[in-house]
Amino acid sequence: MVKRTGVFYHETIGIYHDPLAMSVREGFEAIKREGLLEIPNIILFEAEAIPEGILLKTHTTKMVNQVKKTGHYEESLRSVGGTLRASEKILEGEIDNALVFIGDGGHHSYRDSFWGGCYFNHTAVTINYLREKLGVRRFAIVDTDTHHADGTRDFFRKDKDVLHICFCHTNHSDKEYNKFDIAVPYGISDEEYLKMVKREMPKVVEFKPELLYWVCGNDTHLDSYGLRSLTEKCYPNLTRIVKETAEKACEGRLVVKIGCNCPAYVSEYITPRIVDLLAETGKYKDY
Ligand SMILES: [Zn+2]
Ligand SMILES: [Zn+2]
Repeated sequence: MVKRTGVFYHETIGIYHDPLAMSVREGFEAIKREGLLEIPNIILFEAEAIPEGILLKTHTTKMVNQVKKTGHYEESLRSVGGTLRASEKILEGEIDNALVFIGDGGHHSYRDSFWGGCYFNHTAVTINYLREKLGVRRFAIVDTDTHHADGTRDFFRKDKDVLHICFCHTNHSDKEYNKFDIAVPYGISDEEYLKMVKREMPKVVEFKPELLYWVCGNDTHLDSYGLRSLTEKCYPNLTRIVKETAEKACEGRLVVKIGCNCPAYVSEYITPRIVDLLAETGKYKDY
């Protein structure tokens, strides 16, 4: 049986683009152009502007007001909205998994501050919401953005029910609270990177979350700003590893967050292939 895959997007999320940094719109357009949205088990949802009250359960009023002044309020609000509704629909059984486009990174966002191209912490807002609304406790987050997910870590540092595996620049392991950082060597090849990620996945399976998040940072691409050297072919293979992990750990319940923080040609290659793999449509075989 194929999977029902949700794609969450809104045009405000795709507004900001830059030759080296963000190509969210191009990633979304590629999914459309390749005909993936015409496949019945791939369903497009508009990333919703969620009510501010939901944000205020995770962020302070002062911070919400600061984000409003940056000009990035709506794209970040809708990035939260996409993450939150995708998670809710998966947990309620309407869809099996999802690709959520995000207009800001999310993971450098704290309760009361933000930096590094991040505004609201999509994942933290969502987890707090789901715990209250659906009583779901256990979540796993795998973060393969090149930078350390300091904001997300700060939210859940002393929360054993959130497993956080962050591939960044240091090695750190807190087994009591299920928090792990894996140092990725510079210049690592696709093969070595995939091996490294695969090696950590049993942690997710053992943890048995109710939902798995994958922050698929593309600043690890050789032509992005992240000083890494992965090629675009690495990302569909990464998707395979993470999806297989979700199948073993939580019956395939997986939210992939993609910021397309890479040049357009990379997003145009990667995003349709991620959707194809999530929905198990078997369209591409070129990696
Ligand atoms: Zn990054
Ligand atoms: Zn880290």
